[in-house]
Amino acid sequence: MSEQLIDTFGRVHRDLRISVTDRCNFRCTYCMPEEGMDWTPREELLTFEEIERLARLLVDRFGIDGIRITGGEPTVRAHLPVLIKKLADLGVDLALTTNGATLRLVAHDLREAGLKRINISLDTFDRDRFIRLTRRDELAKVLDGINAAIEAGFEPVKVNCVVMKGVNDDEILDFVRFGRDNGVVVRFIEFMPLDADEIWSEDKVMSQAEIVELISAHYAIEPLERGSAPAARWRYTDGGGEVGVIATVTEAFCESCDRIRLTAEGAFHNCLFAVKNYDMRAMLRGGATDDEIADALKGAVHDKWAGHQIGQVHFIRPKKSMSQLGG
Ligand code: SAM
Ligand code: SF4
Repeated sequence: MSEQLIDTFGRVHRDLRISVTDRCNFRCTYCMPEEGMDWTPREELLTFEEIERLARLLVDRFGIDGIRITGGEPTVRAHLPVLIKKLADLGVDLALTTNGATLRLVAHDLREAGLKRINISLDTFDRDRFIRLTRRDELAKVLDGINAAIEAGFEPVKVNCVVMKGVNDDEILDFVRFGRDNGVVVRFIEFMPLDADEIWSEDKVMSQAEIVELISAHYAIEPLERGSAPAARWRYTDGGGEVGVIATVTEAFCESCDRIRLTAEGAFHNCLFAVKNYDMRAMLRGGATDDEIADALKGAVHDKWAGHQIGQVHFIRPKKSMSQLGG
């Protein structure tokens, strides 16, 4: 590593999220509309070779040490294990976020290819509620996908649950028990204003404080060291594992954020809520040298703002939905 990706506030960026597709087999209400998504045509997606070139450059020159593969739904991208193998060879902490529905089919191949960690998104254990939330009848497949991930040897397996008031906040303790019983780390995510249908409102956000108050009324927990990770973490003092909350809305962690993002069509975003992005695909396909690409990435991170300001008058809602940004 010769340099660091550093912004004007002194934040060093080491964590890369790569979306490999904007397509999805689900239509979660809080993420994308039921119909009318314009999927990026195949030829406009970055190829595995293009993704690998950018990732290698970021690792070799700038010390990126964590890569998370996301989407849309990453497992719908054909031959995903081939990409996983290329990225695993870079020696980074490699993780994947998935809705879990097809995990039974691919978990083993992903593990063999070198994937280390996996996060599965699940917001309810109730079948009818699951159908309303995802517009798909696949709860049983997702639960089986979680088992498949455990069987394939992923360590840890994490379950991400977006908590929405009046929708699934009555299931928080069910998730806590599920995590403790199955040895998976549950992470509750505050509902963010990146839903394509714009159903978000501040009163639907179940805050970290409310979530932790509820859990601690039933289980003894104590806080764990956090570092630059987005999740605040607690451990059950009886040895039942740990639980986390990603409080993007009520406890914004912008001052310690070390994340950068690449969308499926090769747009570089220096923040989940950034309104501006940088076209890396044009550079890759226009014959840019590694030095030119590195300079562009450095400039893009340098431009990063202090924070997203959700809930304040200055907040500008990004045009892209969560499914296009990768979470
Ligand atoms: N399809 C994969 C999945 O669902 O895990 C990966 C992409 S998804 C966009 C990544 C994460 O973003 C998921 O954990 C999902 O629950 C979360 N997410 C989507 N929309 C959200 C929103 N409006 N607020 C908070 N989290 C959201
Ligand atoms: Fe698809 Fe994941 Fe978005 Fe649900 S949260 S619609 S599974 S991308």
